[in-house]
Amino acid sequence: MGLVIYNTLTRKKEPFVPSHPPKVGLYTCGPTVYNFAHLGNLRSYIFEDVLKRVLLWNKFKVKQVMNITDVGHLTSDADTGIDKMLLGAQREKKTVWQVAEFYTKAFQDDLKRLNILPPTTWCKATEHIKEQIALIQKLEKKGYTYFRGGNVYFDTSKLRDYGKLALLERQTETQARVEKDPNKKNQHDFVLWFTTSKFQEQEMKWPSPWGPAGYPGWHLECSAMAIKYLGEQFDIHCGGIDHIPVHHTNEIAQSEAATGKKPWVKYWLHNEFLVLAEGKRMGKSAGNILTLAELEQQGIHPLDYRYFCLGTHYRVPLMFSPAALEGAHHSRKKLREKVLELKKEKEGKKDSAVAKKYLHQFTEQINDDLNTPQALATMWEILKDEELGGKEKYVLLRQFDEILGLGLQKIREEKIPPEITKLAEERLNARRRKDWKKADELRQKIQRQGYTVGDTKEGPKESYEIKRA
Ligand code: AMP
Ligand code: ZN
Repeated sequence: MGLVIYNTLTRKKEPFVPSHPPKVGLYTCGPTVYNFAHLGNLRSYIFEDVLKRVLLWNKFKVKQVMNITDVGHLTSDADTGIDKMLLGAQREKKTVWQVAEFYTKAFQDDLKRLNILPPTTWCKATEHIKEQIALIQKLEKKGYTYFRGGNVYFDTSKLRDYGKLALLERQTETQARVEKDPNKKNQHDFVLWFTTSKFQEQEMKWPSPWGPAGYPGWHLECSAMAIKYLGEQFDIHCGGIDHIPVHHTNEIAQSEAATGKKPWVKYWLHNEFLVLAEGKRMGKSAGNILTLAELEQQGIHPLDYRYFCLGTHYRVPLMFSPAALEGAHHSRKKLREKVLELKKEKEGKKDSAVAKKYLHQFTEQINDDLNTPQALATMWEILKDEELGGKEKYVLLRQFDEILGLGLQKIREEKIPPEITKLAEERLNARRRKDWKKADELRQKIQRQGYTVGDTKEGPKESYEIKRA
């Protein structure tokens, strides 16, 4: 079976056929850089990374573009609320530019720690103002815009198929919750360019044909940059499901109206949310977020979180719980130990029929709309299968890791760094003095650096054992 993916546009699984094989154009909506990414956001980027790796597995040549939203935008998708970047700057007593630079770097660091392959092209909204203005002018010329209350709006009534990505029912529901803007001719219209700010002290402003100082609407940057780097029509566009009713719907509207070419994007892929026990989405506005750094402080490695995400299909809500994460942590640890053992095996069987069967099975699973839970199960099945030789298992697992990205290819016997051993010695001495508080502090310090320390007895003597967490 060739690659089959679920297309939000048709609500069906479809064979993947790019427009210019083997080339594939992939656009993935990036973060707004006013805070650290939370685990929910990172679920999206892990899903997109798996998608990209599956495309590469199928021998496609992928050009991936990811934007950085560094222009201040409103906390609501629909042109209301407060400016996110300004919020960040006030909180941290920095300029919005400093905030953007800091969190862009933090986001790129998170991706690296999650073993996410970097996009071919990073692009910042603030570096593409010219392209965004040109896109509005194109829309203006074709009669898709109007100017009211100092802002340029997109007139959705001019586009017959506006909202085709979102199911109508759902869209009406979402829009109904949105505060009404008296300048809008139609409920779904959206701002392309602001000259009258909805908040004070907007720092990021640019001259434009509509006034001396203004800034673009949020949806515009993705259309302008995707067209610039991937062309007027391309293959895949991704994001979380919250982007379906407003952001992606508006991206489609302005892109197809400007170029006159349909469809702008052939396949739209969306991931479901990371949710908490009450079924509530993890999100900045809900105030229930956790970052990767916070997980690490609890001794959970970023790749444990990746493993945890792979265990649930990307179109199914993923329930966050400390116990489930702990489970992922232990599974990955066991996996690493097994891989280390297998690595030491002597050359044995090669390319047996059983190995080929597993390779085929794995390929079928990932090609079936990225079925990572089944792919993980195949990996464990291989480890138990006595018909396979040790070296053969090792080779298969390394291959699978091209998709799973669990760092299995880099595993080697680890030497414990001397500073960790020193901390463990200090802890043992604290225990001997019965200073339990100090001993516990030191244990936590060791854990924060990615190691665990356990107590053992060597005959009558107390000792310790250090392991990678
Ligand atoms: P934002 O920075 O808010 O634009 O979000 C970046 C990405 O994270 C988008 O693709 C969102 O759809 C996605 N996202 C936000 N919250 C969650 C969540 N709880 N679970 C999964 N994805 C999310
Ligand atoms: Zn976007």
